[in-house]
Amino acid sequence: MVQSPDWLHYQAEIHPQREALIFGQQRWTFAELDADVARLAGILADWGIGLQHRVAYRLRRSPEQVMLAHALTRLGAVLVPLNTRLKPGELEPIIQNADPTLIVEDGSDFAWPDTGHRRIILEELMEGSLAQPLFTATLNFEDLHALVYTSGTTGTPKGVEITVGNQWWSAMGFGLNAGLEPHDRWLHIMPLFHVGGLTILFRSVIHGSTVVLEEGFDQVRTYDTLIRERISLLSVVPTMVHRLLELDGDAPPHLRLALLGGAPAAPALIERAHQRGYRVVPTYGMTETCSQIVTLEESEWPKRAGSSGHPNLPVDVRIMKDNRPLPAGKVGEIWVRGPMVARGYWNNPQATRTTFHDGWLRTGDIGYLDPDGFLYVIDRLRDMIIRGGENIYPSEVEQHLVGHPGVSDVAVFGVQDEEWGQRVAVAVVVSDPALTPKDLRNFLSNRLASYKIPSIYYRVDAIPRNASGKILRATLRDQTSAMTKWTENHD
Ligand code: ATP
Ligand code: MG
Repeated sequence: MVQSPDWLHYQAEIHPQREALIFGQQRWTFAELDADVARLAGILADWGIGLQHRVAYRLRRSPEQVMLAHALTRLGAVLVPLNTRLKPGELEPIIQNADPTLIVEDGSDFAWPDTGHRRIILEELMEGSLAQPLFTATLNFEDLHALVYTSGTTGTPKGVEITVGNQWWSAMGFGLNAGLEPHDRWLHIMPLFHVGGLTILFRSVIHGSTVVLEEGFDQVRTYDTLIRERISLLSVVPTMVHRLLELDGDAPPHLRLALLGGAPAAPALIERAHQRGYRVVPTYGMTETCSQIVTLEESEWPKRAGSSGHPNLPVDVRIMKDNRPLPAGKVGEIWVRGPMVARGYWNNPQATRTTFHDGWLRTGDIGYLDPDGFLYVIDRLRDMIIRGGENIYPSEVEQHLVGHPGVSDVAVFGVQDEEWGQRVAVAVVVSDPALTPKDLRNFLSNRLASYKIPSIYYRVDAIPRNASGKILRATLRDQTSAMTKWTENHD
């Protein structure tokens, strides 16, 4: 069995004075963070929390949440971070599925579903008396480290079983690819309850780099933090890049990589960011792969614009159709394999069976590899629109539309149609009130085959997105009857 000494404690022993965590004016060195975590782990142990106990938490962004994550890791317990944006009715099936020993909360106003699980407020827990702090631990790579629930973009969130080993390999893959160094300072603005945000915490204690935790994304304040805290690494979703580019200031001078992921990124956005000096690189990954597994190196831009990059070592990617691998250039389902791939879905044998297959993960995404092994992610299999037998990928159409100066946000989706099977619909948030569907149609006609051009237009105030910034296409499809059409249909 592969084992490791506790990661945070290791950093505290060899770099006690290095900065580990920053939150506003509050700062912790690795030694200080280790001491606070040792105390909290001791208290949790007194509460009876131990090896492989599942502990769920729904907490505001705070350094205490970071401490809880490390304390549970030290105890060999299983972290179950709960999405703070979910409504009680949405959280209930997740809590039922995880069936935690304990739920830790922050006492904020929330109508907890009545699931009968024991809850405690983190602040009260931390004020509790302590028999003995817990400084040391051995981590077992085969143990479960976390149940991280997927974003629920395509249905009910699934609890992904992430092991300690998955977490380790995710940090290694990233380090080999981007060269995570101890002097790196990572600005953390991603949700802590999704895999992208959770792994940042463990990359920090595995590589000994600093986490600067932002209260949330605010373009002006976040930009200020990037400069003041000399941030070198940043994970972002496309909307955050849009917002940062709205500001006048130059790119923060220490920022060496802004990892853009979670959703298809328009090459036009990356190009615009580069012109402004923001070193944005696309990445691809998912909860089941313990965060990103594919990253495009800066030197490959713009030669491979549209690609999410080359798989990190030791990830293996295949493009499959009818259970057979396809050659380079052919479009099919993306399958991945590697030691950061989770072992299955918690308490969901059916979904595990259909998704995890002989060491391979069927991602449900479609794409292709170029002859040099660079991955181009096209879209989700489920979102593909089939109109009169032709396949249309919503993200391809969106990527062109966001390049129109009168468009501030956009979502393309399929609607059922008797004649064509499906038709292409688009919901647009305009930045130019004079914009018309005809303008967009003309704009697209030079760029896309006519069958891909939307024939149904809606003007909306906002595109429904989840906490990861992903378009909720199913919500759009369900809402069409409530939305007002922007023009007549043309087909
Ligand atoms: P659910 O599985 O519950 O429907 P989800 O798939 O959105 O939700 P996540 O694990 O957070 O949950 O997201 C992973 C998905 O995000 C990928 O499978 C892919 O569809 C999309 N994605 C991530 N990065 C990229 C990218 N670079 N390009 C295109 N799509 C991406
Ligand atoms: Mg998914």
